[in-house]
Amino acid sequence: MVLKKNDEITLEITALTSQGSGVGHFEKMAIFVEGAVTGDKLLVHIIKVKSSYAVGIIKKILKPSCYRIVSDCPVSDKCGGCSYRNIKYEYELEMKKQIVEDALQRIGGLDIEVDEILSIDDNNHYRNKGQYPVSMDNDGKTLIGFYAKRSHRIIDCRTCLLAPKEFEKILNVIEHWAAQAGISFYDEKTGKGILRHIYLRKAYATKETMVCLVINAESVPKKDKLIAELTKTDETICSVVLNINKKNTNVILGGRCETIYGKDYIEDILCGLHFRISALSFFQVNPKGTELLYNKAKEYAALDKGKVLLDLYCGTGTIGLSMQGNAKEVIGVEIIPEAIENAKENARLNEITNARFICDDAAGAAKKLLNEGLRPDVIVLDPPRKGCSREVIDTVVFMRPERVVYVSCDPATLARDCKIFEELGYKVQKVTAVDMFPRTTHVETVVQLSK
Ligand code: SAH
Repeated sequence: MVLKKNDEITLEITALTSQGSGVGHFEKMAIFVEGAVTGDKLLVHIIKVKSSYAVGIIKKILKPSCYRIVSDCPVSDKCGGCSYRNIKYEYELEMKKQIVEDALQRIGGLDIEVDEILSIDDNNHYRNKGQYPVSMDNDGKTLIGFYAKRSHRIIDCRTCLLAPKEFEKILNVIEHWAAQAGISFYDEKTGKGILRHIYLRKAYATKETMVCLVINAESVPKKDKLIAELTKTDETICSVVLNINKKNTNVILGGRCETIYGKDYIEDILCGLHFRISALSFFQVNPKGTELLYNKAKEYAALDKGKVLLDLYCGTGTIGLSMQGNAKEVIGVEIIPEAIENAKENARLNEITNARFICDDAAGAAKKLLNEGLRPDVIVLDPPRKGCSREVIDTVVFMRPERVVYVSCDPATLARDCKIFEELGYKVQKVTAVDMFPRTTHVETVVQLSK
């Protein structure tokens, strides 16, 4: 039978993809089904047929998988954040470990076992940040929540299970204030309207909260009323900031901020170090998970007081700074100037004097450092999803470090890069996956390579 659009077939789901879809085979053709779980027997409605695969949607669950559970979020199938909320968490962890192992094997050609996946105790309410688009529906009801999958339609959700519980009240206060102050909501089509996003950050260790309103204007009326209501509702709010974004763009934050109450930043503690987080600065969204990751990276780096560490793609310096106590010197490299400023500030804040930071492209900086004679004992790599460039890998290998610790948010590019390292004489020794983003499809991996 040749499969056509609108066909209905019975399908057994045999695996999950790294994007969170279930996959089964129909006469040797792979069929991808969103929301399906390994072990499900389904009646599937085919919506797309390509030469080598097809896509279907669940018409009926004929026999549910033993890994299937009922999602505890009413919007998880719409918002696209928690693709794994309908499977048991233990199985999610198993799958994520498998996804890393498969990538290393298939793409990297490596036959290595991944250590037990690390996870935090509580896989809800772990995020320290929420960015909520706002708008009004046709009946004049305010919508505050998240974009639906692959769209800019807002699904109202103020009780996201990944966000701090306290955020709900703050969102409601802002909604109420906006109505009273006559603040309109931004319309992407016309570019008109004031309030674009509500952006909230919380430091779990110090219990400080920042409220940031992203606005398509220079200011807003009735600021005092807003501040009074916010601070009365949640006494942990110690910073209220306006972020000005007048561009017609998908990028959430504009480049300018104005603090209208309290401090310009909140402070959090990670691996025993203090970090100042301003509205624009990058900070890992799951602090407990980040500690698991950084501690594993530290173990793999196996530094001692005589060693020099090069931290490439260092962001605000957090990995290098968390390891500096075990090193002679730490050098961080990062391409974003603001992040480097934050990294320097973070070093000062913690009275760290053996760390320096360079704002440059990783490949260029590594070459310069190599030419200056730097031979770090350990190099940490934590690139964005696309992984390291060939130039970076070549230069790292030229530096002949004892160990390379590669932290990655994309198993596929990690595997590709590990293969190159292996061809150049470095061997993958240990691999650990860390579940930094429970209930979503993302998984973080840390790898130790040595000569
Ligand atoms: N190690 C940090 C940040 C990792 S995210 C942490 O754990 O928080 C990856 C970082 O690489 C980002 O900060 C990004 O700005 C930076 N980056 C991206 N391309 C780069 C390049 N070509 N050279 C240097 N840094 C780069």
